[in-house]
Amino acid sequence: MSDRWDAIVVGAGPAGAATALLLSRGGARVLLLDRARFPRHKPCSEYLSPATTAILGRLDGVLEAVERAPHAKVYGMKVVAPSGAVMCGRLAGAYSFALPRATFDTILLRAAARAGAVVRESTRVQDLLWDGRAVAGVVARGGGDGKRETWRARVVVGADGLRSVVARRLGLLRASAPRRVAFTAHVAHVAGVDGVGELHVGDTGYVGLGPVGEGVTTVALVVPLRSVRAGGTDYRAGLFAQLERFPGLAGRFDPRQLVRGVLATGPFAQWAERPCVAGALLVGDAADFFDPFTGQGIYAALRGAELAAAALLPALAAGNGSGSLSHAALAPYAAARRREFRSKWLFERLIALGIGWPALTNRVVRRLAVRPDLADLVVGAAGNIVPAARVLAPSVLAQLVS
Ligand SMILES: Cc1cc2nc3c(=O)[nH]c(=O)nc-3n(C[C@H](O)[C@H](O)[C@H](O)COP(=O)(O)OP(=O)(O)OC[C@H]3O[C@@H](n4cnc5c(N)ncnc54)[C@H](O)[C@@H]3O)c2cc1C
Repeated sequence: MSDRWDAIVVGAGPAGAATALLLSRGGARVLLLDRARFPRHKPCSEYLSPATTAILGRLDGVLEAVERAPHAKVYGMKVVAPSGAVMCGRLAGAYSFALPRATFDTILLRAAARAGAVVRESTRVQDLLWDGRAVAGVVARGGGDGKRETWRARVVVGADGLRSVVARRLGLLRASAPRRVAFTAHVAHVAGVDGVGELHVGDTGYVGLGPVGEGVTTVALVVPLRSVRAGGTDYRAGLFAQLERFPGLAGRFDPRQLVRGVLATGPFAQWAERPCVAGALLVGDAADFFDPFTGQGIYAALRGAELAAAALLPALAAGNGSGSLSHAALAPYAAARRREFRSKWLFERLIALGIGWPALTNRVVRRLAVRPDLADLVVGAAGNIVPAARVLAPSVLAQLVS
């Protein structure tokens, strides 16, 4: 393997695989590392918000591979409030793909390898190498024999998800409210699942569910971290009992139809104080992840990868070909993320906080139930096909709570 890579990408989920693909396509020498062996499962509701489709179309055969794989199409989102009020927003003329992450992430990983990235699975990054104050590479273990290895690169891309070791080693990781954790499963033959996703909000926590193809439904129970820490409830073994607590879900699941064991993840919200330092940048959940309610994480991971590659390729081409990229060279990435995601961050945070407040959720859902135009607007913003800023306009916010 090369002595010094242009880029080492840590994590081969959507953010890392897409960054590696785009950098390799641009002529960079890229090493892509993941602790897992693919296909691997990932706790997720597995819905690719509709704006994701355009990005998949820019990723060398990925859209075609998704279309060929078993998948479902989702045409809108239904939200059931704690009071039982129901609203449904449609994705005006658009739809979302939904498919198991084991399939989707493997499609992306293979596309990155086809573009020229060198992929090392079963390789866990544990630490960073430094040249003075600049990141200069990674320390990892794996490759079958668990041997410690070091690799050097001009830039390290931290795409290693929610509990990013790269962000932690950079000292950038921060946590904020709401602190929630999730338990996810695949269940076959769930009653009443059709072409819309569902979000059921309770007094404590919520459930997201939707079809992912071949008669399978992905289910995610999201609860406050304090409920899990309090003990007394086994959320993994007792997942189906927990689902029965939600009136819109009672009686719809047959526990014998569990086709994939329950996975847990969290806590979120977690974010990095800034997305780049000399020699390193963060993309995807490693950069920020607030809450899964709006289902924007995969879109943000892929769009973030495009922004990262757009900043990195000229920086790599302009450098002297050896040293770590400077903070100034990476600063355009931070600025591009702010421009692209500022409204989305605010929208996502407002919703994440709002659903922790049952009286407010009841009020907004009751309102949206009789205002399908507003319901479509909110669901379109969550799906990234309507700018989030439109929902954040004071006149719209006032209509939502009036
Ligand atoms: C309950 C839940 C439901 C969700 N539902 C949706 C949804 O429906 N739609 C949506 O768009 N988003 C959803 N999300 C968010 C979405 O899952 C994430 O935003 C998305 O996976 C981010 O991609 P990523 O590539 O940044 O990180 P990940 O997908 O987490 O990938 C990170 C990769 O890094 C690897 N890794 C981690 N640490 C190391 C290490 N030390 N060394 C090497 N490799 C490492 C991991 O193995 C993994 O492959 C949901 C999230 C949760 C928790």
